[in-house]
Amino acid sequence: MTTNYFDDLVKNGIDYLNQSIDQIDVEPKYSVINFYTSIEILLKARLLLEHWTLIIERPEDADIKNFIAGDFVSISLKSIRRRLKNIIDVEIPERGYTCFNSLRAERNKLIHFFNPLFKEDEAEGKSKRIERIKEILRSWFWLHRLLTQKWHFEFKDYQEAFSSIDDKMKKLKHYLGFSYEQLEPEIKKKKATGSVFVNCDSCNYLAAEETELNNPIVEQKCLVCNYFDEKIRIECSVCGVTNYYYELVDVKCIKCNSIISVEDVIKEIEHVQDPHDPDSWEPFAWCSQCITSVPTVIPSNKEDGFDAEYWICIVCLEHYGETSHCGRCGSHVVDDSECSVVNGCSQCNV
Ligand SMILES: [Zn+2]
Ligand SMILES: [Zn+2]
Ligand SMILES: [Zn+2]
Ligand SMILES: [Zn+2]
Repeated sequence: MTTNYFDDLVKNGIDYLNQSIDQIDVEPKYSVINFYTSIEILLKARLLLEHWTLIIERPEDADIKNFIAGDFVSISLKSIRRRLKNIIDVEIPERGYTCFNSLRAERNKLIHFFNPLFKEDEAEGKSKRIERIKEILRSWFWLHRLLTQKWHFEFKDYQEAFSSIDDKMKKLKHYLGFSYEQLEPEIKKKKATGSVFVNCDSCNYLAAEETELNNPIVEQKCLVCNYFDEKIRIECSVCGVTNYYYELVDVKCIKCNSIISVEDVIKEIEHVQDPHDPDSWEPFAWCSQCITSVPTVIPSNKEDGFDAEYWICIVCLEHYGETSHCGRCGSHVVDDSECSVVNGCSQCNV
């Protein structure tokens, strides 16, 4: 049963996506409403695949007859995110969630009040239109990543449809040329003072400013479309080409196909710590989400672990506020150590 509803739901979501893109110029208001609707539908489809009651706000009130009749209170974006994490163990990254949520707020304003952005419908200024396209493109970037990477298997029958939507989205990107032209002098100036710019993953303009956090983690912020993310930057030891990853699982160099292993990367960055000063020396910590043969969580700053604002895993990019030592086995872990004498950690508990 679930499979049929899943297919219906995905087709419906794709329909809204296509509508939204077609309306972006002619009916901007409906474009935003339909785009947000498609996000909710496609995220819900993933939950539905686990169980139909998961897309109902209160599963305890679930009634199959009402569900089939479409008579139920549907789940909110916040609950979708929570259930995806708790039940399917898929995290919508914070930055992706922020994009979805701001589109949701805009959609609500349009439905319940009015949005000043759309007040002067026809004589709408160029910059307002561009703001809207940026918002949709940013959300598409995150949605597309979930549907074609993390959930590639579950949505395998729809990959072609997603790729044709992606082509349409790419055509919208030329609108951002206006923003790029405005920002070009600023980018040039920054480059002259040593800033590094790379192609933005979302809008593709050479406008993403890259800053190194702690090797190999970098941060990219696009001045054109406001896309912002952290990545793992690895220089291939064989051919020297720079590779970027969002996840360091089974990866190869884009140019020479050499395998890039987590162990090699960790070996490479070990020099960041000062082994001659044991007081300042804090070894890497074990990530609770990744199964690896070496600890992969490093402090966000280059100095040492003590002043780190946060800790980050070089495999999955998960952030952790702090680390501790397991009360049972002594491993340096990200788990909450309070009960670890009893419960152990991800290392001694397997
Ligand atoms: Zn961009
Ligand atoms: Zn290479
Ligand atoms: Zn990890
Ligand atoms: Zn332990």
